[in-house]
Formats: sequence, C-alpha cells, structure tokens
Amino acid sequence: MNPPRFEYYAPTGIEEIVGLLKKYGDDAKILAGGQSLLPLLKSRVVTIPCLISLSEVRGLSYIDERKDGVHVGAMTVDSDLEFSDIIKKHFPLILDCASQVADPLVRNTGTIGGNISHADPSNDFPSVMLAIGAKFVVQGESGTREISAEDFFVDTFETSMKHDEVLKEIILPYWGSNSYGAYGKFKKGTWNFSVAGVAVQLSMESGKINKAGIAITSMGPKAIKCTEAEKYLAGKKPDDSVLKHAAELIVGASQPSEDQYGSEKYKKEILRRLSIKTMGKAIKMDGGN
Ligand SMILES: Cc1cc2nc3c(=O)[nH]c(=O)nc-3n(C[C@H](O)[C@H](O)[C@H](O)COP(=O)(O)OP(=O)(O)OC[C@H]3O[C@@H](n4cnc5c(N)ncnc54)[C@H](O)[C@@H]3O)c2cc1C
Repeated sequence: MNPPRFEYYAPTGIEEIVGLLKKYGDDAKILAGGQSLLPLLKSRVVTIPCLISLSEVRGLSYIDERKDGVHVGAMTVDSDLEFSDIIKKHFPLILDCASQVADPLVRNTGTIGGNISHADPSNDFPSVMLAIGAKFVVQGESGTREISAEDFFVDTFETSMKHDEVLKEIILPYWGSNSYGAYGKFKKGTWNFSVAGVAVQLSMESGKINKAGIAITSMGPKAIKCTEAEKYLAGKKPDDSVLKHAAELIVGASQPSEDQYGSEKYKKEILRRLSIKTMGKAIKMDGGN
C-alpha cells in the first residue's frame, strides 16, 4: 500500500529542522533510515502530513574514539557499527547486537539514532544503550543538552526528547581494557523481532566482575535496566550459581505480557535461559574465568 500524501523537507542544517518541527508541531516527524517510520506510513497505521529528512545534513554519520568515550553520529547505520574496528575494540556488545538486527537490507539503511528515538520496546539498541550507560546529545531551539539512557526511555514509543529536538550523537563511555559484552536474542523466524533480548556489559578484574550493565528487550513497555542484577554481580566471581541467581534477578525485573509469541511464563523462562547463556558468553571473553 502507498502512504497517504505528505509534505517532504530535506534541509541541510539541524537548526532548520528544529524550526520546521516547531512550525508543524505534531503534524511533523523526522525521517532517518525510514525502516520503522515508512512501514507504519505505508500500512496507514499512522498518518503524518510532514516528513523532515535528516539525509541532507552533513556530519551525522561517524564513529570516533574521543577522550570521554566513543562518539557515534545519529545517522550511522547499523551495518557501520557491525563492521567498525573501533566498536569491535571497545564494545563487542554493540557489534553482537548490530549483527542480529533484522537482515543486511534493514541494517544498511536503519540508523542507530532512529532505532533509539523510535523507543520500540522490541528494538534491540535501547537495552544495549542502558547496559553501557550511554548518553545522548540532542539539539533543540535552546541549544544542545545531554540525556542519560536511563532518563531517555520513558514508555512505549516515548522518549524524554521534546518534539522539536533532534538526536545528534550517542556517547558511549569507556569501560576499561578488561571489558566485554554480548547480546542474546531469541526470536521466532528471521523477520521477527525478539521474543526476548538481553544486553550484558561487564568489566572484569582478576577473574571477578568489577562492574556489570544489564538490560532487557521485549520484556515490558520499554527497555528495562536490571539494576538489582547489576548490583548483585559487582565483585562476584561468576560461577554457575552466581549466574543462575543473577538470571533470577533479571527475570524479576521483567514485565512481559502475553501475545502471539507466548505466555508471560514462557517468556520469563526464555529470558532466564538466555540471560545465563549471554552472561556466560561475555565472561568467556575474559579467558573463560
Ligand atoms: C523488516 C524489519 C525488521 C526489523 N527488525 C528489527 C530488529 O530485529 N531489531 C531492531 O532493533 N530493529 C528492527 N527493525 C527496525 C529497524 O532497526 C529501524 O531501522 C529502526 O528502528 C529505526 O531506524 P531508522 O533510521 O530507520 O528510523 P526511522 O524509521 O526513519 O525513524 C524512526 C523514528 O525515530 C524518529 N527519529 C529518527 N531519527 C531521529 C533523530 N536523529 N532524532 C529524533 N528522532 C528521530 C523518527 O521521527 C521516527 O519516529 C526492523 C525493521 C524492519 C523493516
């Protein structure tokens, strides 16, 4: 199906985009890779009279190592993350996640900024951002401001960005040289989103977990940070019983609801097993301790 008619703007500067968002209010939306927005328009689930594309704004696609962390431009596509040496060096979790998003076609077009801003609880990157403790730089009428991942995801398809703000950059703070990460995803079929997903970021010291970042996908109205599991894991030697208990705490933080993928009980059991497996995968990177 074709989408209903809409006006289309492709300005070259963010200030102009902010101005158009202000002018059109709720009638306007930003268009990035279009991999979430265009299917919604084509199926006529939503009608948006005005689309403002980020495609002509230069300098929004990059992955840079800086003093305070890795900086990623909002228009960086998933496949650039998947094959980046910088990401591979500092955040194997992101690499693991990017390679599991949909298929290469979607990954070549969908952007990290769009994936996060869409705030779909089934999108994979929000939980990854929560696990890493990312910060987001947004630009609006009164300049730029930073929002932590924890404060960013408010509810299903809802973020703390104002309507006339644009996500410009993602800052991924360094976790140190002994840091590892993995993304676990269970889905039914290539095209489907996950039944459950878990993002695990760890820093290790002498075989013990120094710090843990854990968050889950498709397990509630938004991506959920598993604070109790994070606290429990810090300072522990990750043996089987520790991982089992941490998995129970992760399941305890989940709020799944029954849908076509299964019952609440089924989803919690999937998450429990996935969590043990994914924590184990991250720990093995530290030499199997
Ligand atoms: C078949 C299929 C399968 C998919 N499977 C998965 C999957 O397994 N896992 C997964 O995570 N995702 C999946 N996706 C979604 C995909 O990753 C999208 O690319 C992503 O969610 C949105 O990125 P986008 O650049 O396409 O954003 P768009 O679709 O262009 O925009 C999405 C939303 O974000 C807003 N937005 C975009 N950029 C910005 C910005 N810089 N600042 C402010 N607001 C912005 C838009 O206004 C819109 O509301 C799938 C998509 C398809 C079509």
